[in-house]
Amino acid sequence: MNRVRLLVFNAALGALDYRVPEGMTVEPGSAVVAPLGPRQIVGIVWEAERLETAEVPESKLRPLIEVLSVPPLKAELRRLVEWTADYYCASLASVARMVLASGGALRGPASVTEYRLTGGMPERMTPQRERAIEALDGEQATIRELAGIAGVSEGVLRGLVNQGVLEPVTVDTDRPYKRAEADHAAPQLTREQQAVAQRLGEAVEAGGFAPFLLDGVTGSGKTEAYFEAIARALRNGRQVLVLLPEIALTEAFLRRFEERFGAPPVTWHSSLKSTERRRAWRAIASGEAQVVVGARSALFLPYARLGLIVVDEAHEVSFKQDDGVRYNARDVAVMRASFERIPVVLASATPALESLQMAASGTYERLELPSRFGGAELPGIAAIDLTRDPPERQRWLAPPLVAAIEDRLAKREQSLLFLNRRGYAPLTLCRHCGFRFQCGNCSAWLVEHRLSRRLACHHCGHEEPPPAACPECGEPECLVACGPGVERIADEVRERFPEARIAIATSDTLNSPDKVAAFVSAVDAGAVDVIVGTQLVTKGFHFPELTLVGVVDADLGLEGGDLRAAERSYQQIAQVAGRAGRGAKPGEVLIQTRHPKAPVIAALAAGDRAAFYDAETEARRHAGAPPFGRWAAIIVSSEDEAEAKEAARALGGSRPAVADIAILGPAPAPLSLLRGRYRYRLLVNARRSAGLQQVIAQWLGGLSFPRSVRIGIDIDPYSFV
Ligand SMILES: [Zn+2]
Ligand SMILES: [Zn+2]
Repeated sequence: MNRVRLLVFNAALGALDYRVPEGMTVEPGSAVVAPLGPRQIVGIVWEAERLETAEVPESKLRPLIEVLSVPPLKAELRRLVEWTADYYCASLASVARMVLASGGALRGPASVTEYRLTGGMPERMTPQRERAIEALDGEQATIRELAGIAGVSEGVLRGLVNQGVLEPVTVDTDRPYKRAEADHAAPQLTREQQAVAQRLGEAVEAGGFAPFLLDGVTGSGKTEAYFEAIARALRNGRQVLVLLPEIALTEAFLRRFEERFGAPPVTWHSSLKSTERRRAWRAIASGEAQVVVGARSALFLPYARLGLIVVDEAHEVSFKQDDGVRYNARDVAVMRASFERIPVVLASATPALESLQMAASGTYERLELPSRFGGAELPGIAAIDLTRDPPERQRWLAPPLVAAIEDRLAKREQSLLFLNRRGYAPLTLCRHCGFRFQCGNCSAWLVEHRLSRRLACHHCGHEEPPPAACPECGEPECLVACGPGVERIADEVRERFPEARIAIATSDTLNSPDKVAAFVSAVDAGAVDVIVGTQLVTKGFHFPELTLVGVVDADLGLEGGDLRAAERSYQQIAQVAGRAGRGAKPGEVLIQTRHPKAPVIAALAAGDRAAFYDAETEARRHAGAPPFGRWAAIIVSSEDEAEAKEAARALGGSRPAVADIAILGPAPAPLSLLRGRYRYRLLVNARRSAGLQQVIAQWLGGLSFPRSVRIGIDIDPYSFV
């Protein structure tokens, strides 16, 4: 091959052709360095016939500079990149960037210098130095990373190095991971678990594409069952990828994994240090990483010998990425398994309707774990009708729930109160003039956080200190909190039960693996009586002494009119209910609602999952919604409101007339201003058979917009804001 076509990581450049110089060998998938004007770029050698580009005459081709010393990307992964770009209307370049997720992995030194505290003190202490020393306790990283952790300049840290307060440590970035052993501590499985483990093990052994829906009630021991399939893959020298929806869940998973296999798995998530990222990427590409546990982005890594994919809590919304390439990791995982010809397991206690439908049609093989592990009973669920049993004024817990908490405190058992709202109050206003605090960049209220004394926008991250006086009328001390967030519920529990030990569990308080670990140990040790938490505590945690779950506002999730609202509410409440009574003592779940007869609440209280899914399936069929039809959202945005409106109007005006496809809008998006951009939305609803992506690609391909206008395409959207 002396002429090659490269996929490069800048979509605007398109594919580029180069000459392979004498003595250099490349193959499809090779990562190479090529000249581009005066610069050098990295690209992947791709099958020329699969990438379109303008033909360049032989004489004008420039030679490649270097082949990078990483294994070539396999054909299976190249096909996955193409499929993902096609399906989600994204550029190949943006998908390929997710594959090469560690720039440092491709080249660079095999060792780096990191720094850590020596325990010494500087001759002269400054506030900045003091802050750094306090923040860096137990940390070891490069100077740049430490500066980020401590929130000080690199100069401050260099000064501390000179003073001997920080010392250099040379780290081999490619040092091997501890090996997991398939037979380290094989567990006793129940008969049900055994049957699941055996079927999955057979599939791993046989190879070939085999999608499974592992449908097991909360506490049924799904993890232990699929661990046996992992063991089988390990014995065969194959790699395993386990996708988890949140980093917060990783901590508990790692512990269980290490107990079972004698070594922790390799982790992959956005907060890895660059050296950890490099080490993991190279070990994955060489095949040395045996089991990788990660967030959705781990899906695109270049595994050398992948033998099994597990998607745990597969119904979770967080598998859907909502910026950059808007893909759903659950669906892409199934595609990857199909390209790799291996089994894939979607595990859940509350599967997505789409997955249940695939099982019903026989596309997925369904494996069930219908009862809890160790004979524990599923908790009893009852609704509290807030119209009949309302809480007192400016309180949020109804009398029956308060009585139940009191009962648990007396018995020294634990309670969990669930409210999916971070902060103290979702809205703050001026009692004098009615002024409402709104984000300047978004059409959203600022949320008061009392723990950190700030008003924060949950959409763009803007924060400000609560003002002493109203910015509108100037009245001092006039701010009123409206409605509850978890911090306010925690306050109410504290007022009612001053002796109770309370833990708030949200992404604000549990924002690092260490904090999650500390929280879990505190609850395990019985040092917490009442947990007040957001969706973060709805899944994955196993606290045997937790016997009461109170859902503070079950109606919250049903607001907003999102097409998956009912399903998501059902899943969230069923999952949080599943935290109760996992040990020897039975659990109780109380759901506060103004609509006890709503289908979601009625099905939960009756413990009738099938009734809920059947009704929801019919509603979706009727609406032509997934899995019976498909949606796509097109968001047009600009910093200039008139320009956004005009572009959306132009887009709407040129909508194609295609059978089986309806295009609605444009209309202002529910979040009509987000991060300083005005947003209009069009919704496309198509029958399954219609060529949704081709129609959109053709439609948009024929239009041009000012550079300041952004067009975002979201295929199979989850967020309708
Ligand atoms: Zn005011
Ligand atoms: Zn904002």
